[in-house]
Amino acid sequence: MRVLVINCGSSSIKYQLLDMTDEKPLAKGLLERIGIEGSKLSHKKGDEKFTFERNVSDHTQGLSWIISILTSEKEGVIEDVSEIQAVGHRVVHGGELFASSVLIDDRVVKEIEANSFLAPLHNPPNIEGILAAKKLLPEIPQVGVFDTAFHQSMEEKAYLYAIPRKYYKQYKVRRYGFHGTSHRYVAARTAQLMGRPMKELKIITTHIGNGASIAAVKYGLSVDTSMGFTPLEGLVMGTRSGDLDPAIVLFLQEQEGLSIREANNLLNKKSGMLGLTDGKFSDLRDIEERAIEGESLCLRAHDIYEYRIAKYIGAYVAAMNGVDAISFTAGVGENSPYLRKNVVSKYLGYLGIELDEEKNKLRGREVFVNTPESRTAVLVVPTNEELVIARDTKEIVEQGIRELNMF
Ligand code: ADP
Repeated sequence: MRVLVINCGSSSIKYQLLDMTDEKPLAKGLLERIGIEGSKLSHKKGDEKFTFERNVSDHTQGLSWIISILTSEKEGVIEDVSEIQAVGHRVVHGGELFASSVLIDDRVVKEIEANSFLAPLHNPPNIEGILAAKKLLPEIPQVGVFDTAFHQSMEEKAYLYAIPRKYYKQYKVRRYGFHGTSHRYVAARTAQLMGRPMKELKIITTHIGNGASIAAVKYGLSVDTSMGFTPLEGLVMGTRSGDLDPAIVLFLQEQEGLSIREANNLLNKKSGMLGLTDGKFSDLRDIEERAIEGESLCLRAHDIYEYRIAKYIGAYVAAMNGVDAISFTAGVGENSPYLRKNVVSKYLGYLGIELDEEKNKLRGREVFVNTPESRTAVLVVPTNEELVIARDTKEIVEQGIRELNMF
C-alpha cells in the first residue's frame, strides 16, 4: 500500500509518500509560503533534491501541485494518482474526543472543527488539508492521527489543574500534552530495542527539538507529560518559556501594559533560549557552540535548559516509582552529545546510569549510550512521526475499521 502523509501548517504542507511493503519513503518534501508571494516547494526523490517556485493561494492548490510533482516523469515516483491508496493526516488537537487514530468522515471533520478553540493556530490548517485531499482524491480513504491522542491515557491526577473545576467542565481546561505520536513511537521502539514487552517497562521519552516535551510511559501508557493545555508548559524551549509562576504573566501585563496577544507572543516567541540569550539565539547549535567555548550568557542558558530536563526526569521517576529506560529524540535529543552528557552525568547518577562516552558521540542513530554496568538504559531513538501516521493509516484502511485500538 502507498500512503501519502500530510502535515499542514497555516502556510505550509509537509508531505511524505511511503511504500508500506518496506515502510520506506519514496518521496518527501515541504511546500512553504502558501498564500504569500513566492511559494517554495522543496522536493526529495531518494537522494535527488528539487526546488520550485510558484504562487500558491491555498492548501488545495498546494496539494494539487504536490500531487502533480509526485506523478511527474522527472521528479515523480508514481505514474498515476490512483497509486496513492490512502492519506494520513497529522492533526494537532484531538481534545478529549480522540484517544486514537480514526478514519475521517464528515462527522470527524466536524469534531476536529469543534476542537479548534483549543488549537486555533493548528487545527484550522489541518482541516484545510483534509478538505483539500477530499476534493482532490475523493475516492481515497483518509485517516487522522492526533498529537494529543497518546496522552489521553493520563489519569485525572495528572491532567487536572488546581483551578475551579467549572473551567474544566466549561472550557475543557486540562493537560492534553503534545508530540504524542513521537512519544508513542519512541517508547515502542525503546522496548523493541531492549527486547522486552512495553507492558513490563517504565520508560521516559524526551523529545527535545525546537519545541520540547517529556513523557512518562508506564507499561505502554502515557501517565504524564510536560506540555499541558497548550505546548507552552514544561521544558525550556527555543522560544517558549516552559514552566513559570503564572503570577509573572499577570505582573508583566500590569507593568508593561501588555495585551493578551502581546503576552502570548512574549511567552511563545520571545522567551525560552531566545529570551535567556537576550534575543540572540534560539537554535541550540548556536548556543551549544558558545557554551562549549565558555561564553557565560550561553553557558547559563544551557545550564537552565538541561537542569529543567533533569528535574522533569526526576519527577517522572517519582510518578512511575522507577524507570527502566530514558530515551532521547528530536533535533537536539538525537544530535547533541553535549546535551545528553550534561543531563546524564550531572544529574542522573542516582539512577545508577553510566554513560558510554564513545557511543554518546554518535548522532541521529539508534544506539544505547549507557555502559553494560548501567542500572538504567539510556538510548537515542530518532523519531519518525510520519511512519507512525502511515502505519496507523494502513491498519485502519486495510482492516476496514473506524478507529485504532492503541492501548
Ligand atoms: P521542531 O520539529 O520542534 O522544529 P527539531 O526536532 O527539528 O524541532 O529540532 C530543532 C532543534 O534541533 C534546533 O534547535 C537545532 O539547533 C537542534 N539541532 C539540530 N542538530 C543539532 C546538533 N547537531 N547539535 C545540537 N542541536 C542540534
